[in-house]
This record gives sequence, C-alpha cells and structure tokens, in this order.
Amino acid sequence: MLDSGDCGVGGAGPADGAGPCRGPGGLRHGIAYFEYSAPEGWDPLDEDSYFGFMPALCPSPPCRCGGGKWRHTITLDAIRSERVSMEAPEFARAYGNVPDRSG
Ligand SMILES: [Zn+2]
Repeated sequence: MLDSGDCGVGGAGPADGAGPCRGPGGLRHGIAYFEYSAPEGWDPLDEDSYFGFMPALCPSPPCRCGGGKWRHTITLDAIRSERVSMEAPEFARAYGNVPDRSG
C-alpha cells in the first residue's frame, strides 16, 4: 500500500475539515490502492471472515452504524442467500474477489 501522506484516517484530509488532502511532499494528487478480497485459503462458509474484506457488510442490521451520515448496504442474510444460490466459484469471485481459474 502506498503512503497516504496526510490523507485518510488520522490525517489532515478534507474528512476532518482540517484542510486540503495532501500527500508526501505536499502533492495534491496521486494514487491510493485499497484491496478488499478474501485471504488465501478462505473458507466461504466462515461467515465471521466476511467482515474482514466486505466493507459494505453491516454487523448489526438494520444499519445505524454511521449515525445517519452513511450506512452499510448489505446484510449477512443477503450474502448467505447468495452463497446458497450461486456456484462456489461464482460466490468466491463475487463476494471474495477470488478469481475463478477453472477455465
Ligand atoms: Zn451497519
């Protein structure tokens, strides 16, 4: 992951109202890479693992997590329903970002 400079969590980015988002050396542009995917060897039946790489998944629906400013957009019940209706490789790709290399 690239150094985010003053941006993001704990930084002086626009989210905290402290000023423009600036990277290392005062740069005002750049690239940030965030990856959300299942770890190697992921067990799709391990529902607790979902919270590690599914940032839209609400731990406590109906969602009130963001205090009205934002909300999670999917529930464990919805993902569980998708898991039982999809082929395993399709579910792993769709919800774990695991490439289907079966052909
Ligand atoms: Zn929530």
